[in-house]
Amino acid sequence: MTIQLNDMSLLKTQAFVNGEWTDGDNAETFAVTNPATGEHLADVASVGAAETRRAIAAAEVAMQDWKARPAAERAKFLRRWYELVMENQQDLAKLMTLEQGKVLAESVGEVAYGASFIEWFAEEARRVYGDVLALPQTDRRGVVIKQPVGVVAAITPWNFPNAMITRKVAPALAVGCAIVLKPASETPLSALALVELANRAGLPAGLFSVLPGSNAREIGAEMTGNPTVKKVTFTGSTPVGKILMAQCAQTVKRTSMELGGNAPVIIFDDADIDQAITGALISKFRNAGQTCICANRILVQDGIYDAFMAKFVAAVQAFQIGNGMDSASTHGPVITAKAARDIDAIVKSAVEQGAKVVLGGQIDEQGECFYQPTILTNVDTQMRVFREEIFGPVAPVFKFSTEAEAIAMANDTEFGLASYIYTRDIGRVWRVSEGIEYGMVGVNEVAISADVIPFGGVKESGQGREGSKYGLDDYLETKYICMGGLHS
Ligand code: NAP
Repeated sequence: MTIQLNDMSLLKTQAFVNGEWTDGDNAETFAVTNPATGEHLADVASVGAAETRRAIAAAEVAMQDWKARPAAERAKFLRRWYELVMENQQDLAKLMTLEQGKVLAESVGEVAYGASFIEWFAEEARRVYGDVLALPQTDRRGVVIKQPVGVVAAITPWNFPNAMITRKVAPALAVGCAIVLKPASETPLSALALVELANRAGLPAGLFSVLPGSNAREIGAEMTGNPTVKKVTFTGSTPVGKILMAQCAQTVKRTSMELGGNAPVIIFDDADIDQAITGALISKFRNAGQTCICANRILVQDGIYDAFMAKFVAAVQAFQIGNGMDSASTHGPVITAKAARDIDAIVKSAVEQGAKVVLGGQIDEQGECFYQPTILTNVDTQMRVFREEIFGPVAPVFKFSTEAEAIAMANDTEFGLASYIYTRDIGRVWRVSEGIEYGMVGVNEVAISADVIPFGGVKESGQGREGSKYGLDDYLETKYICMGGLHS
């Protein structure tokens, strides 16, 4: 075994269904591989529709008791889970870097970020409020109460193998729902370690099951088709989100969708250039460019363009790609060899249409999952680098002249998740923030995410918000009760 943890019992390779570790019915497994080395890390149980159905049935049973408990009790469980996650931060981070590739410091950060959602929703659990309404008729009053939506099914991606899970599971459990989760096939170990810690924190059987599986379609079809599931929450690509929404329509399930992005970073002439460069570097290259809020298009106003490029290129030249476990590495591999080839195809197609490679531009000799940090200029709005989510360490830098042009370029996409603007002009801050069609705007800042903020997108980047006080709403139904007969 190539994995060494302080607590080896965090390394789980079975599914967790109805409070028990179990193999799939067919005893099938799938391999988990280290993208930095190609090493085989583990074989994980692969479940299908039948196990998913049993997990959903168990969730329905577990939820009856859970939702009837005082919110403070649910909060206490979440708090304990949070503490255990933080106590095991190093082990969870190591597992993450091994299966996902991001550098260890980023994994350590993600575990704390993921845990912050558990802590936040432990606190928010006690803050579910209703309303009393004055009705037109004087002999009655209206009461609005909030109730848990029901059994939730969640499907999550590999790029944040911890936080994308806690951001769904914690609010669901906080309000009294039960949840079944399918993690991404590339990163099941992080998910299984998380549920192991939840179990140690006192998780009731059936309340949270984790269903690893190599047949996502089969598990997804059961989750979206099963009438017991009342809500599906998904983080992943827009095409898969659309499939799940269509499937959910058959039983009119509630959905939350955290989908792809195509974030612009708009840097105006009056920006603090060093701040803008630092922001663009962090936002573009974090997690090797594989975050949904990564800068995808860097738009620089013509007056500052040359100065920006000189410093930006020098900074990217200093990056050290390598194994995430090596402290000298500033950036790790991308998730798979196929991902690296897909990134390369986007770059090659830009070059064929006239783009200039200033840096990088190919798969690195370190291995098939390593893509060189890349900067492209001479790019235009018809190229794939402008239109598609690159999901890799490739920075296309576009030039613009006017504020109106920048807003039009930013909005020229079906996506609308994160966006960033760099300017010192307060009027422009408001005009552009209100003029661009995005769920989130970072003004002179790219580190916009936190437990307290409503994370989510508009247009084809999704619907619903995760984190913040709004994050509970996605797991609550609104019920109106008309109280009549008040007149004596
Ligand atoms: P993906 O291919 O959509 O996969 C995401 C999850 O969906 C995985 O668990 C996958 O399972 C599963 N899946 C795939 N096809 C399915 C189907 N037909 N039915 C049911 N489940 C299915 O996305 P990804 O490549 O892992 O993640 C990258 C994408 O996620 C990017 O577009 C990124 O922007 C987006 N993302 C968005 C946010 C946000 O908050 N908006 C956050 C992070 C990532 P398998 O792994 O088994 O294939």
